[in-house]
Amino acid sequence: MDKSEKIFVRAQRKIPGGVNSPVRAWKSVGGVPRMVTRGKGSYIYDADGQRYIDFVASWGPLILGHAPPEILLALKQSAANGTTFGAPTEGEVELAELVSRFMPSVELLRLVSSGTEATMSAIRLARAFTRRTKLVKFDGCYHGHSDGLLVKAGSGVATLGLPDSAGVPTAFARETLTAKYNDISSLQRLFSQYGKTIAAVIVEPICGNMGVILPEPGFLAALRELTQRHGALLIFDEVITGFRVALGGAQEIFKISPDLTCLGKILGGGLPLAAFGGRRDVMNLLAPVGPVYQAGTLSGNPLAVAAGLTTLRLLSRRGTYRYLAAKGKRLEDGFSNVLKKTAIRATINRAGSMLTIFFGVDKVQSPDDARQCDRQMFANFFHSMLAQGIYLPPAPFEAMFVSLAHSNADLDKTILAFDRWASASKRG
Ligand SMILES: *Cc1c(COP(=O)(O)O)cnc(C)c1O
Repeated sequence: MDKSEKIFVRAQRKIPGGVNSPVRAWKSVGGVPRMVTRGKGSYIYDADGQRYIDFVASWGPLILGHAPPEILLALKQSAANGTTFGAPTEGEVELAELVSRFMPSVELLRLVSSGTEATMSAIRLARAFTRRTKLVKFDGCYHGHSDGLLVKAGSGVATLGLPDSAGVPTAFARETLTAKYNDISSLQRLFSQYGKTIAAVIVEPICGNMGVILPEPGFLAALRELTQRHGALLIFDEVITGFRVALGGAQEIFKISPDLTCLGKILGGGLPLAAFGGRRDVMNLLAPVGPVYQAGTLSGNPLAVAAGLTTLRLLSRRGTYRYLAAKGKRLEDGFSNVLKKTAIRATINRAGSMLTIFFGVDKVQSPDDARQCDRQMFANFFHSMLAQGIYLPPAPFEAMFVSLAHSNADLDKTILAFDRWASASKRG
């Protein structure tokens, strides 16, 4: 038993499943999760001293890589002045100003501590603003673990929601309607049936939680048009895509202005920080201005704000996103060449520096397509890459994240490892 395994055995005695978030337990790929001891740049190290090139990036936040010196300095300076006050600070104002500048649709915003809080609060606000109760989400989009958002689609056409987790009252889940991503007619049907009761439509503008799935041309514009026509709010959940695909998120790329936006992950530069924001008239319903209650003891925590501010300032340097996209493309091209050479059936979806390989399918335009992929092949791929020093998301429906810390040598090493696995698995 290696050290990671020993610690994991101990973990399971005191923490359910040994982890504080389920995907960390490696259930979809099998095996024992590595206990991480430290990270530096593009690398993480485990308890047994193994080094890996990391493409999980803490599931998105670490766009600068691990432990960048600028963040460490900002944290040190901030911590020396105290770690939390429960009173307003100027840093929060600077961060709000910066986010609003990068994302003009975000006229006002409030800081929270997790993406789950951001989406939950945005939905409460949308319900108060529209005085309606129903929420539309898309099958396969993940918006955190609050009750009403843990709902999957029924079979066939979009149906009334059923809970996707034990402990969610059916009555709550009923308030959530589910449409199909990239299928605008499924949303039209919901609006024609429930139009006057729909408070909001929430969507990942680029899906990142069924692997990467890009919106079809016109899909987001149709969402904007339909919500507007029916008096519902459009909420973009840019917890992954915000500051990842562009400084202004997917809304900058697709030139769509949502009513509300949820942010997280990169926003906190690796510390717990998230936000929701948008139209001034909607945001002004929040207490203490308006009647919608929302609060947090550690909201806008000074350490998290310092890390977030430093991250956004570094990202705002010219050329950052061109550079990141070029790195993403290098990886995609390398993988594609290997797939061609070995005639392995798979498809790669990429948005800038986030990408997913789906095995056993030719095209993935919807979560239904994604579900057709070969999960066993993914597990083989995952473990082969791990053995070669490459740390991938331990589940098939996730994005790999390339950071500014990944060197071309890191990427080429990753492609070579993929080639070795692909060639060996082709030989059988
Ligand atoms: C990660 C994620 C969330 C939830 O954020 P947490 O900080 O994990 O609560 C919400 N929406 C999307 C799109 C996410 O990827």
